Amino acid sequence: MNPGGTVSAGLDGRRALVLGVANQRSIAWGIAEKLAAAGARLGFTYQGEKLKDWVQPLVASAKGEFLVPCDVSSDSDVAALFRHVREAWGGLDILVHSIAFAKREDLEGEYLRTSRDGFLLAQEVSAYSLTRLCQEAAPLMSAGGAIVALTYLGGERVVPGYNVMGVAKASLEMSVRYLAADLGPRGIRVNAISAGPVKTLAARGVSGFTQILEIVEKKAPLRRNVALEEIGAAACFLLSGAAGAITGEVLHVDCGFHVLGM
Ligand code: NAP
Repeated sequence: MNPGGTVSAGLDGRRALVLGVANQRSIAWGIAEKLAAAGARLGFTYQGEKLKDWVQPLVASAKGEFLVPCDVSSDSDVAALFRHVREAWGGLDILVHSIAFAKREDLEGEYLRTSRDGFLLAQEVSAYSLTRLCQEAAPLMSAGGAIVALTYLGGERVVPGYNVMGVAKASLEMSVRYLAADLGPRGIRVNAISAGPVKTLAARGVSGFTQILEIVEKKAPLRRNVALEEIGAAACFLLSGAAGAITGEVLHVDCGFHVLGM
């Protein structure tokens, strides 16, 4: 925390925990690369042994200091992750939440057909996980900290096919605001980036995703899709002292697409 002091955009030596790298196309990876370039120290998580093989070389290339398994729907995994962070670093400055999951059958056709299981699963992994992670991260951020989560326009407006994930993103965005209110007095800022569409593993699960990319390219004010590194740069800003007075915010990094009425 640096109220009224020198405002710095650098992240030299800040301890940053990044969740959600599946491969080099992941938004979390775009953010991690920018954090590394800004001088942050990095720790990563992965989910499932198959992913570990993909993620390990990336972690090595970013000089990541640890790679720990964590399924965010498991309380014991989350607790073990933060025990590891405490032992490795003694504290934490930055948390990046770049995680979402819904059943494939809930990401096509009518939202109306969503099952109870599918609804709860999407909420648990994509929205509640942020609150659970903050419960563990906040005590480690004794000198203040910054947290960023990833959301999408489908949490504000109806985007065909996004369905149950849109409802989970609405929940995530509101969690960002409540968490910002709870954690602000401790000098911990909580924000979200509403990113434009990016071709990633998770995005491939959304029916009609290719059309979404085409529509944005044709209609967004900037007439193109967002680049991974632009999302990374925006995250670095929100996680740095340059954004010291910003909390509870959802920043659209989508080439302006969200301003359109049609
Ligand atoms: P991605 O590369 O597939 O990343 C999603 C990550 O979530 C993966 O690492 C995935 O691991 C992880 N995950 C899923 N369930 C998990 C669980 N139970 N525990 C721990 N990790 C879990 O896709 P992405 O597009 O970069 O997604 C990152 C974030 O950006 C998500 O919140 C997404 O909604 C958001 N976002 C994406 C776009 C887009 O167009 N791509 C736009 C706006 C916002 P597994 O692969 O093992 O499941």
